[in-house]
Amino acid sequence: MTATHERHGHFIDNQTVPSQAGARLPVTDPSRGTECAQIARGTSADIDRAIGSARAAFQGRWGGLAAMERGRVLQRWSQAVLAHQEELAQIEAMDTGKPISQARADAVALARYFEFYAGAADKLHGQTIPYQSGYTVMTLREPHGVTGHIIPWNYPMQIFGRSVGAALAAGNACVVKPAEDACLSLLRVAALGAAAGLPAGALNIVTGLGAEAGQALAEHPGIDHLSFTGSPETGRRVAVAGAAHHCPVTLELGGKSPQIVFADADIDAALPALVSGIIQNAGQTCSAGSRVLIERPLYEPLMERLSIAFGALRAGPASLDLELGPLVNRKQQQRVWDFLSDAQASDIVMAAQGEIVDEAPADGFYQAPVLLRDVPASHRLWREEIFGPVLAARAFDDEDEAVALANGTDFGLVAGVWTRDGSRQFRLAHRLQAGQVFINNYGAGGGVELPFGGVKHSGHGREKGFEALYGFSRLKTVAIRHG
Ligand code: NAD
Repeated sequence: MTATHERHGHFIDNQTVPSQAGARLPVTDPSRGTECAQIARGTSADIDRAIGSARAAFQGRWGGLAAMERGRVLQRWSQAVLAHQEELAQIEAMDTGKPISQARADAVALARYFEFYAGAADKLHGQTIPYQSGYTVMTLREPHGVTGHIIPWNYPMQIFGRSVGAALAAGNACVVKPAEDACLSLLRVAALGAAAGLPAGALNIVTGLGAEAGQALAEHPGIDHLSFTGSPETGRRVAVAGAAHHCPVTLELGGKSPQIVFADADIDAALPALVSGIIQNAGQTCSAGSRVLIERPLYEPLMERLSIAFGALRAGPASLDLELGPLVNRKQQQRVWDFLSDAQASDIVMAAQGEIVDEAPADGFYQAPVLLRDVPASHRLWREEIFGPVLAARAFDDEDEAVALANGTDFGLVAGVWTRDGSRQFRLAHRLQAGQVFINNYGAGGGVELPFGGVKHSGHGREKGFEALYGFSRLKTVAIRHG
């Protein structure tokens, strides 16, 4: 089964339902630039209905389940995702344009999130606190209630897994607003959840536009916690909407993450990580290593090797499974073009560029990967998130300068450091402003166990790992005086 040319509804109360207003939105295949399906265009009426369904599940069958049983549902769901890996990957590749092997990896990661949180569900607990004689004091870990999840288009399955998997494990019922550009895989995943034993209402998905369904979700007083992943501008809007009803909000807002390469680094190990760090998902990755800082003695030799590597990269349709697929939509393609025109106008030198293969349909949203050299630290190409396959490089002279350059943007999501100097490894782990620091690797394989989130404009709160369960639960202190 594929989702091609289907008309999809929302997923509410374990049912597929049309939008109450009856409106739909087209879905475009980025590899071809043509319509491939339609989704329901949700409004506040659909959000109301989904939140009502989630509240009933939270107060009823889902909220009443033992933590162990919630874990078992997630475990069965994980197995179902693995059993449908190929189907989910085909849907995702069509919907987002990502190369089919990257879509397969996303489905495996989703299953792994469910597996991790299945095992963790009955290990989230409070503590007892030694207090005055005559008291017993304990903390209880309780779910928030109904959690809202606003998901972007770059990694729908992975971000759904890390956010919804943890929220359900902690005992919440969820309402999800996926991105209008990429929600087909999640509708299928939700149906697999129902078949795996998720009670009606525990998970609801309302599709539609951000300014309509997304805004309605963020503003809704029936939401007890919001998790948002996407752009800083929209994140701010969501946080403001949540603040109006005193709703805790977790924000994951992207980055401009540096990889710092010292002259003593193992270059053979660093080179593939520098390339994959920016071309994975065609650069549309919040933790993309989009800046490379190279110690001056190594600058020209490493730029030469990077240029050869970039020159060999190919972009093409998802089905060809090349290094890069297309960008997600025309708007994103235009955004990258605008940055590249700016580079040209500022006389920033393009050191190398990959190719778009001849088989790529002319109406697809392709962008060949680009390596820019000597990018000034004041330029927007050095400071702003492009969200495309563009790597900005520049040299540095000493460790202090490297740290100042690395920390010198508004963002702080991830940082990579390549050096054999053990003392420097520890120093930089402390000095870099980022939610994750990787030494002599970049991303550590993306392990679901590793808490993830940003500082500064990259956001706040942590998802992934056990840490996410603390965010998706709240602590109650109980003091019993017994004499
Ligand atoms: P966006 O932040 O506007 O969209 C992300 C999600 O928020 C989508 O589900 C969208 O429907 C929803 N949304 C949009 N407006 C909303 C609102 N007013 N209230 C509630 N929800 C709303 O991102 P975009 O416009 O699709 O992309 C723009 C830029 O965002 C990209 O170029 C990229 O730089 C960045 N981005 C970052 C990430 C990330 O993971 N950090 C992901 C996607 C996009």
